[in-house]
Amino acid sequence: MKKTVTTLADGRELIYYDRADDTVRDAVDERPLDAVSTSSEIRRDPLLGDSVAIASHRQGRTYHPPADECPLCPSRNGRLSEIPDDDYDVAVFENRFPSLAGDSGRCEVVCFTSDHDVSFAGLTEEQAALVLAAWTDRTADLAALPQVAQVFCFENRGAEIGVTLGHPHGQIYGYPFVTPRTELMLRSMEAHRADTGRNLFDDVVARELSEGDRIVLEGEHWVAFVPYAAHWPYEVHLHPRRRVPDLRELDEAARTEFPQVYLELLRRFDRIFGPGEPPTPYISAWHQAPFRAPGREEFGLHLELFTIRRTSGKLKFLAGSESGMNVFINDVPPEAAAQRLREVASK
Ligand SMILES: [Zn+2]
Repeated sequence: MKKTVTTLADGRELIYYDRADDTVRDAVDERPLDAVSTSSEIRRDPLLGDSVAIASHRQGRTYHPPADECPLCPSRNGRLSEIPDDDYDVAVFENRFPSLAGDSGRCEVVCFTSDHDVSFAGLTEEQAALVLAAWTDRTADLAALPQVAQVFCFENRGAEIGVTLGHPHGQIYGYPFVTPRTELMLRSMEAHRADTGRNLFDDVVARELSEGDRIVLEGEHWVAFVPYAAHWPYEVHLHPRRRVPDLRELDEAARTEFPQVYLELLRRFDRIFGPGEPPTPYISAWHQAPFRAPGREEFGLHLELFTIRRTSGKLKFLAGSESGMNVFINDVPPEAAAQRLREVASK
């Protein structure tokens, strides 16, 4: 892999990840961009104790541009985009409209491919492996920034999820604090250790393997299952069999197998609701240990993949109980969801 670090016209960082080691990326961003003005502010909620990023500068951001004005396509035929080169394999750049910036963290955009019309599920294993390498490298680079406490790599796919750009891409948030969900997991992990003397992540995976009816697929190095108390209609957790705290510590065997397992999961997601249905909207979220949290070595890196579609043409909305009280009501039993995800396996 070849990594090339450069800057855009307004000073934001752009990083190319290329499969061929002899790739040269020296195109210059010729757009007359003003310096980015960000005013994102983290406010703490006194009742809940959680944090809200107030980012008013985001109101002017690009919203559903036509395909020929896509800012994530390479710059070609005189049309200048966020990527100055006329092609790329994987490109990562600092978001021009970040929710978190400066002392408040960092937001990056990851372009999975230069091909506007493909989705992650349509990538080759080599392309998916390069995305994994980029996620891993970004995690390592952001770990070195003092203002970043935790790195979150994720993809939102589908207009129903609120995706405003059709080009296949994901995002990376470097939060300046440990997120509430991660804090909850760390607390559960510590309580489980105190009660049983064992690791919570190991026990969760062991339980799923022994009960078996929520297993979606098993690789040599990865296990995917619908969790016992799934919050979403179709939700899959993917864990490496050898527990590691973050992407940097995956071994070569797990890295090599990941593309095969993850691409299969995404392809199954698109088949859940049968032929003729538009692509399944999903959120794919990497959970990694915060860099400086006590007990981080015990954390279990995993990916959570879920859709908000519950049945053909119907979305699950976060309504009164979920949004008002944080109590999820799931109409699809996790065992039935897992069975469906096994039925739609690639032949
Ligand atoms: Zn595009």
